[in-house]
This record gives sequence, C-alpha cells and structure tokens, in this order.
Amino acid sequence: MRRIHWTLDLQEAEIVAGLLRAEGIDAFVFDAGIVRQNWTAALAYGGYRVMVAAPQVEQGRQLLMAWRQGEYALPDDTADALHCPVCAGTDVQPDQRRRGWSFVIVYLFRVPIPWRWQRRVHCRTCNHRWNRAPGDTTPHDHAS
Ligand SMILES: [Zn+2]
Repeated sequence: MRRIHWTLDLQEAEIVAGLLRAEGIDAFVFDAGIVRQNWTAALAYGGYRVMVAAPQVEQGRQLLMAWRQGEYALPDDTADALHCPVCAGTDVQPDQRRRGWSFVIVYLFRVPIPWRWQRRVHCRTCNHRWNRAPGDTTPHDHAS
C-alpha cells in the first residue's frame, strides 16, 4: 500500500477515497479511528492518509490530478435548482411566512414542525408559493 493523498480533514480523505473507489481503485483511509480520537494530535499521527495498492498508484495520481484540476466539478451550479412552476424562475427560497409559527410550536409544545410546512417554498420573482415534491431539490435556506 502506498500513500496517495494526505490531509488533516477526515471528510476530504473520505471523499478522495470514495472518488478513487468509484473509478475502480481499492482505496482506504488509514488510521482514521486513531486520528479522530485525538484530533489535536492529528499532525503527530500523520493525518488521514489515503492509501492504494502499489500497482494502482499511478492511475490514482492521475485521477487526483484531474480532480484537482476540476474535471469532476459540476457543470452548472443552477442546473438542478428548483424552478417555479408559474414563471420558471430559479429565485426560489423556503417560505418564510410560517417560520415564526414553526418556532412557536416547537418552543411551546415540543412537537416537530409539520413536515408539509418545511416543503413550502416561495418564488421571489412572481410571488408564487407552493409545496415542493419530496424529490425536488431543496433551495438554499438563506436569502440571496
Ligand atoms: Zn415564479
């Protein structure tokens, strides 16, 4: 096994290992449990190391180089954005009108927010409000 990537971020190590596995390379994150136990000493442990079998090192390095150069980036960030059914605009956000009531219900009665309320969205272009389907992309929870 050879080290192909090194990081102090466990999520990055798992993403790199997952990318390599998706491309057919047997990749492992070594010592993740030990390093995670005492992250203040992560540097002393050598961080999170992504390891691959020696014969696959060169193929893995080429894949990581392509990843660093952005070849795995999504083509357009708005491609799968939620579209308004009325005006087809993408300036859609969670409906803010019921947020106050949701907070009051949770605070006073300790019951979860009705899940249909969480799916309510608002188009800021045409002011249309609707419930998105369960599979729809969640609009970002902050106003842009
Ligand atoms: Zn609209």
